[in-house]
Amino acid sequence: MVTNEQCTLSATLEQGVIINGTCHQGTVPDYYIDARDVKDIQLGLTFARQHKIPISVKNTGHDYKGRSTGPDTLAIWTKNIMPDLKIDKDFVPQGCEQSAGPGVTYGAGQTFDDLYTKLDGTGYFIVGGSCTTVGAAGGWLAGGGNSILTPILGLGVDNALQIKAVLPNGTYITANRCQNQDLFFAMRGGGGGTFGVVTEVTSKLHEDHQFIHVFMTMNLPDGVREVSEILVDNAERWADEGWGGIYGGSPGGVSFLTFNPSLSLEEAENSVKPLRDYLESVASDSNPLTINITTVPSHWAVVNTPVSLAFIALEAGTSRTRSSRLVPRENFQTAEGRKQLVDVIEGMNWATILGTPTAFALPESDLPGGPGYASVTPAWRNALWHFIYTESWDQGNPAETSPEALEQRFRRVSQAMDPMRAITPGAGAYQAESDIYEPDMIDSFWGQDNYDRLLKIKQDLDPDNLLSCFTCVGWDKADPRHRCYPEMSAIRQD
Ligand SMILES: Cc1cc2nc3c(=O)[nH]c(=O)nc-3n(C[C@H](O)[C@H](O)[C@H](O)COP(=O)(O)OP(=O)(O)OC[C@H]3O[C@@H](n4cnc5c(N)ncnc54)[C@H](O)[C@@H]3O)c2cc1C
Repeated sequence: MVTNEQCTLSATLEQGVIINGTCHQGTVPDYYIDARDVKDIQLGLTFARQHKIPISVKNTGHDYKGRSTGPDTLAIWTKNIMPDLKIDKDFVPQGCEQSAGPGVTYGAGQTFDDLYTKLDGTGYFIVGGSCTTVGAAGGWLAGGGNSILTPILGLGVDNALQIKAVLPNGTYITANRCQNQDLFFAMRGGGGGTFGVVTEVTSKLHEDHQFIHVFMTMNLPDGVREVSEILVDNAERWADEGWGGIYGGSPGGVSFLTFNPSLSLEEAENSVKPLRDYLESVASDSNPLTINITTVPSHWAVVNTPVSLAFIALEAGTSRTRSSRLVPRENFQTAEGRKQLVDVIEGMNWATILGTPTAFALPESDLPGGPGYASVTPAWRNALWHFIYTESWDQGNPAETSPEALEQRFRRVSQAMDPMRAITPGAGAYQAESDIYEPDMIDSFWGQDNYDRLLKIKQDLDPDNLLSCFTCVGWDKADPRHRCYPEMSAIRQD
């Protein structure tokens, strides 16, 4: 971002074309270890320690803040750690005496698309990302892990039964609710690329069943205030009923792609009636409402409806940045709070709303002080919405990719969330989908208590910051690994 040394792929020219035929190294490491097993990672870390070479860890490269690269680092690439899946109907985590129920064990390189497909037909599914190209064991899990099914089944961190990882000193460990609980806490919310290199994860399996699928979309050239009001007025009920999915809007129209694992079709139709009634009342022959309220037979079908696939479609060359806010339940509980929310949403020209684990009750083992407590911000547990503001641009357009243009855009996207931050004091943000200028990162991503524990674990584990990434726990602002980020002075280090 700072030097404009890029390798720009165009979104608008032929897919994947490199602009000007020139590729700069930018933040991309010069050397990668294409790790295949634990030993590869251990050798890489030992070599890096001996020669004082900073490390970066990359899986799929989805990180919005570029934290899976770093100039002049030695990268450990985990994408090819792909042992066969292991399904265990009675998974007993190492060191535990009792079964934790059905679990699936997969490697560090596992993506959700492959995982969902392989689990289809087994009678089970897992809680995973809605964009299926995201890695299941890397930054998604380390950052928290949000899913369409999070409202009722929890975050990725709530579904993890066991994590195996190589620590910065080369030790290979197994962390779960019975052993290495500090690491289990840190690797479930503390952020990727910080506490160790994860090689294997076991996640809870859920019995497959049918789901309610609701899709509504239409153009609304006269604005979406009424829709915002309906969403705000119904937010508590919908969250408690376990709806998950994506509500997206812009000044020109709205789209709703939602799923429910527990309501009947009739209950679902009643549940979404206020929104449907409004959209039908403003629809016309020239501006019809597209609507589909139906059941789909399985989890695989949920992620593979034509609309789901259209929502997650990616194209080379399109870049995105976003800012995030976890909006607490209290904001929806008074008329004044609801009005403030509608005003803010309207002022921002709308955004995207995703679910939070509102209808999911944490088991006693995972409450604060318990062996399965996770380090994500406690704000997740009280939020009804994960609210996201996003801007995209074409990497192939020089006017949009100069250092100045990029910095302006990243600042604008961060500032766009300020009105929402102002009416949600003390709430948090989802670190995996937040912006680089997020104010009060410690409070937003972890909360001070979680952060204090995380920092101590990090300092004990990796005093020399062999593993480190931008704004990650224990990061050092002066570390040359972070030199490509703009305006470092504006970013809080703590
Ligand atoms: C198109 C798109 C869709 C998304 N959809 C969702 C979604 O539905 N739900 C959601 O919650 N989030 C979503 N995200 C955000 C996503 O969770 C984060 O970008 C996440 O960090 C990606 O993790 P990764 O391992 O795939 O990517 P990477 O960029 O490779 O890694 C991300 C971070 O994890 C670290 N890391 C990777 N592998 C390991 C490992 N084996 N051990 C230790 N550290 C590791 C890296 O160093 C880096 O810091 C989406 C992002 C994109 C770009």
